Formats: sequence, structure tokens, C-alpha cells
Amino acid sequence: MRPVDLIRKKRDGGEHSPGEISTLVDLFTRGDVPDYQMSAWMMAVLLRGMTDAETAALTEAMLKSGQVMDLSAVPGAKVDKHSTGGVGDKTSLILAPVVAAGGLSVPMISGRGLGHTGGTLDKLESIPGFNVNLSPAEFIKVLGACGCAMVGQTAEIVPADKRMYALRDVTGTVESPPLICASIMSKKLAEGIDALVLDVKTGSGAFMKRTEDAEHLAKMMVATGERMGKRMAALITDMNQPLGRAVGNSLEVRECLEILRGDCQPMSKDLLDLSLELAAWMFYLGGRVESVDAGRSLAEKMIANRSALQKFCQMCREQGAHASFKGKPEDLPAAKFTAEFNAPADGFIESIQCEQVGLASLVLGGGRNKQDDVIDLSVGFELFKKTGDAVKNGEPIARVHYNDGAKLGSALAILKEAYRIGPKPAEQNRPLIKKIIESRKKT
Ligand code: URA
Repeated sequence: MRPVDLIRKKRDGGEHSPGEISTLVDLFTRGDVPDYQMSAWMMAVLLRGMTDAETAALTEAMLKSGQVMDLSAVPGAKVDKHSTGGVGDKTSLILAPVVAAGGLSVPMISGRGLGHTGGTLDKLESIPGFNVNLSPAEFIKVLGACGCAMVGQTAEIVPADKRMYALRDVTGTVESPPLICASIMSKKLAEGIDALVLDVKTGSGAFMKRTEDAEHLAKMMVATGERMGKRMAALITDMNQPLGRAVGNSLEVRECLEILRGDCQPMSKDLLDLSLELAAWMFYLGGRVESVDAGRSLAEKMIANRSALQKFCQMCREQGAHASFKGKPEDLPAAKFTAEFNAPADGFIESIQCEQVGLASLVLGGGRNKQDDVIDLSVGFELFKKTGDAVKNGEPIARVHYNDGAKLGSALAILKEAYRIGPKPAEQNRPLIKKIIESRKKT
């Protein structure tokens, strides 16, 4: 079989066999299919699409291009959550210790922030000493000791994705649902998990602005995971405003610690609600409870009795934080200066261009444009108002935490553009969880 025949087949709308897909991915990973042919094939996939069977075959072939974690030494069900990314999205830091405290294992391989979205690894690195670069053996040791471990991806995990993603980035083929699905799912399945909950975000701060697109991708990922024998669910969730009350790495860790201490501020309620819901699904799919409602009660209990807080601090210490780390706010880095962003008029917050809030944080130094940019972990925003809230002229909408005065003006200007203040109260109770897509069968 020649790569050109596969390109022609997909170009003309044909369906590949699993063998054709695995051969193509194997040859590409070994360097025997050149980048230009892989790029042409991925463009054909973008234009023609893939069946569920083809998407599952591509996911499996990519997964097998590298190492799959062997977690057989860790007893019990292993579950994880993946989010497509947003602004102020920090649920992983809450739900991993909650689910571990409730008796399941959470082997979490996370990413860094890029563009307007934040990344779990950067947030964790704002905890002094926290090491996200564990070897597989160290990762398994922490997981066994705590029930949760949070690390970055190694070069051995899904090497095919690294090269395919780099080509997609420069050939206009990122936006293909089957390619996105195979890219995300292959990396998640390499964790050796039994069940996965997806948080597929939609709205002005999300990768997918339209709910229909988010739903289409969610269904595809659920079907792919299910075909590969995993229990799956996807929650389609709102990202039209930042989640919770903090945006910025150490500020977001502080907010999670408040919640884990049982001290949830009113502005953080959406974050707590979503974290509980995702944890509830993880408990349910992991077979720990018989219903999602029972999962939610268990999650609430793990916060109320502080076992989740203890798990989180234990994981931090196991991963390099100081032996005395107890999750106190003063343990985290703080910016030197603060300034208020005030409402420019009386009225109501009609809408927030959420992506712009993420970009304002990036401008302060809290995010990166390129993978290797160095970021300032202490900067960001504390938010005092959400969509629908009334504001008075001059009243603070947010507090900016910054270190470099030269960047403050640009960040404030972006925030001013991002918040639309109008005379009418807008729809305040927009549902946070728009839809749930569940695996059809128990596996
Ligand atoms: N995130 C990924 O890991 N892969 C994609 O293709 C898109 C988003």
C-alpha cells in the first residue's frame, strides 16, 4: 500500500480499513511517510471527514505510536477528566483530590496554557517546589500513595500526535473534528484509564464558539472512547464568562484551596457546582456509586470533611512542595501591585468577551504565545461581578494583580473592551451545563 493511494482514497470520499490507518500512522511515526504526504492526507480527512470506525482506528493507531501507562500495580478504577479549555477553568485542581479522597485513582496528564486559555501545569507550578515532570515510575508511586497525581506529557506518550499536530498547525488542518478527537483521545487513553469525563466548553472563551460544534465533537469523543472499551460521558458547558472568581495561575490555586477548605465565595459558586458535577460523573463512571446523584453527595462530603484538602496537600508534598505545605494562601506567590478595574457607567453587565479576559491576563505576563514563553505565575484578576450583575459607575468589576506597570494600561484597555455594560439586566441564569452525553452501555 502506497501513501499516495490512501490520500487518493480519502480525497475521493472512500472509507479506510483499520489496517490502512494503522499502517499509515506507523510508517509516519517511523519517518517513512514524508510530512507532505501526511499533510495531504490530513487535508483530505478535513474535507471528507471520517466514520466513527475510522476515527477509532486513528485514535488507536496514534495511541500505539508510543507508551501506554501500565497502572496494573495501582488497585481500583482509574478515572480522569479532560477539558477542552477555557478562562479561569481550574476544576482539575478540585476534582482530582475530591475523587481520590472518595476512593478512585486519578492519573492526570495535563497541558500548559496557550493563547487565552490557562493550563493546569502552570497553575500547579505556582506552588513552590511542585514538580510536574515525573518519570512514569515516580508518577505511579505518587498515584499509589495519594490516589491522584498530576504531571505533564512525556515525549514517549503519543509521539505521532506531536508531529501530526505540528503539521496541522501550519497546514490549516487543526479544525477537523476527527483529527481533534483522535489527538485528544489518544493522549487521554495513554494514561491507562478505565473511564473518562469530558468537559467540552462552548462560548466566547472556548475553542468552540458554537454549541452545535461542541456537541458534535463531544459525541465523537464519547463514541470513540466507548469503542475502545472505556466508560465515557461528556458535559457541554458554558464558557461565556470566566469560571469562578480568579484568572491567573497562583490566584486560581488560591481559589481552589478556598473551595477545598469549604470556604466557597459567592463568585466561585459556578466553579464549585461544575467541579462537583464532573466529580459526580467520575465516581459514577468509575463504578464507585450507583448514580450521579450519589456521586455528587460523595463529592460534597469529601470537601465538607476536608479529606479532599488533605489529599491535595499530600499530592503537592509528594510532588516536591515543602514538607510543611498545608495549602495556606501565604504559601503561594503574590504580585507586587494591585489596581481596580472600575465600571465605566451605571447599568448591568450584559456580556463578557471571555477570550479577551484571557488575553488581558496573557498581556500581564500570565500566559504564553509560544510553547516556550516564560510566564509570571503571580499575575491575573480577581473578579467581583458576573454577567447580569448590576454595577454603578466607578464600582470595581475586577482587581488586577500585576508586577510590571508598563503592562497594566494595555490589560485594563482590553478588559474595558471585554465587558459590555447596558441598561437592561441580561439573562442571568444561563445554564452552566448545557447538555450531557453519556456512553450508551456499561462496559
Ligand atoms: N487539543 C489537542 O490536544 N489536540 C487537538 O487537536 C486540539 C486540541
